[in-house]
Amino acid sequence: QEDVFKKIVSHCKEYGFVFPSSDIYDGLAAVYDYGQNGVELKNNIKEYWWKSMVLLHENIVGLDSAIFMHPTIWKASGHVDAFNDPLIDNRDSKKRYRADNLIEDQIAKYEEKIDKEVAKAKKRFGDSFDEAKFRETNPRVIEHQQKRDALHERYTEAMQGPDLEALKQIILDEGIVDPISGTKNWTDVRQFNLMFSTEMGSASDSTNKIYLRPETAQGIFVNYLNVQKTGRMKIPFGIAQIGKAFRNEIVARQFIFRMREFEQMEMQFFVKPGTEMEWFAKWKETRMKWHQALGFGPENYRFHDHEKLAHYANAATDIEFKMPFGFKEVEGIHSRTDFDLSQHEKFSGHSIKYFDPQTNESYTPYDIETSIGVDRMFLSIMCHSYCEEQLENGETRTVLMLPAELAPVKLCVMPLVKKDGLPEKAREIVNALKFHFNTHYDEKDTIGKRYRRQDAIGTPYCVTVDYDTLKDNTVTLRFRDTMEQERVNISELNGIIEDKVSI
Ligand code: ATP
Repeated sequence: QEDVFKKIVSHCKEYGFVFPSSDIYDGLAAVYDYGQNGVELKNNIKEYWWKSMVLLHENIVGLDSAIFMHPTIWKASGHVDAFNDPLIDNRDSKKRYRADNLIEDQIAKYEEKIDKEVAKAKKRFGDSFDEAKFRETNPRVIEHQQKRDALHERYTEAMQGPDLEALKQIILDEGIVDPISGTKNWTDVRQFNLMFSTEMGSASDSTNKIYLRPETAQGIFVNYLNVQKTGRMKIPFGIAQIGKAFRNEIVARQFIFRMREFEQMEMQFFVKPGTEMEWFAKWKETRMKWHQALGFGPENYRFHDHEKLAHYANAATDIEFKMPFGFKEVEGIHSRTDFDLSQHEKFSGHSIKYFDPQTNESYTPYDIETSIGVDRMFLSIMCHSYCEEQLENGETRTVLMLPAELAPVKLCVMPLVKKDGLPEKAREIVNALKFHFNTHYDEKDTIGKRYRRQDAIGTPYCVTVDYDTLKDNTVTLRFRDTMEQERVNISELNGIIEDKVSI
């Protein structure tokens, strides 16, 4: 699985999807650029989300708020005081880790040990094996389970607060070693704020420190009243926004899964207090359906309900996708209560209450948030679509089985040869279709090689123009997934393709 992931990362670079940022300067850690194909795929993902949120819901409207915001916003939201990760360094390797990650990995190790015992027993006893009973009675499994549960409990308690001493003590007691140096030479645990800061205006003014937003949500909360009043919105209603967010992540790993500059698609849905659990359930279901509509198979998704809730939430769940490195969060759905609006009311001194004309009461709305990372969505799509197919002639074909709606290029038109009027005819087709969907032209190399190039970037349709085309206006239409070919009239192309590729 690790190998597959490495292949996907290099495929992304080789075919113009994702490049390391500042590549000719050897890159910048956890920052990436999207290339010619990546930007198209990313734009399509955003459009797919935007349409499903803003165009399909009468009561959801869009917003594009600035990245720079009044610094007090981040005090009100709790980010200045509480948006921290607990850090620990190993003195020998000089490597820095998140203390919580080290402990979570240790919990996972106990899980692995249990799974190994179960797998061994399954092999030994075959079909007659009663797994549930084995887990309850096998002394080794029971021992690992007890250790795991005790560690989990200690860890959960230490993270409340968090208690930095307690986190360090767990690392020492468990004998956790640095994977690089193999030693237990740990420093104390300390808090590290994830927000990037910069200065606005004259540097001599000491009050001009501002932050790059670590989430787009606050831009929505501080505009809640503007949108509600000017749009005459009635509760329940939502505000959706797509935009960049910045987090100074300590351990940035797994390619574009955890970046320092990334993009979020967030929707805050404002509801009447007391109805939030109903709406939370509804949005959970709606968002899962949205993911599954891509057709990657329901077995690749799961919910992960949170036991430990953030200070502002009364319910939270993640939608996880099966990446090559395990099930990972792609989207978070949180019931954020009236925490954010109330805080902004308090810190700004402006009333943000909603007046309900039907019941004649005023209240601060509760909020359900759906928050998804564009880059993580991109990664999940890449991971699922990348395929090395064994062909009948013994060759291997690398193909991106992207949903046609999301593919960067929808159609590539190719003249069989570079002469006798075939290129001109092919360009005529491109010119007629390029206003409908992204259509490319390619005349270099053999037809076989050109097909492979398009397969590698996930182009669902290719058209070949040959000598017969000049006589009867028919072309060969080739389908990416089946590699089947069909003879069709040029006038039919738009009808066949447009429906399948539009979002
Ligand atoms: P994690 O636990 O992985 O750090 P989170 O719970 O902090 O994520 P949220 O604050 O809920 O994430 O952000 C919502 C979404 O934004 C996540 O589901 C994820 O898709 C995306 N996201 C968050 N941090 C990053 C990051 N550093 N790089 C890329 N995407 C991110």
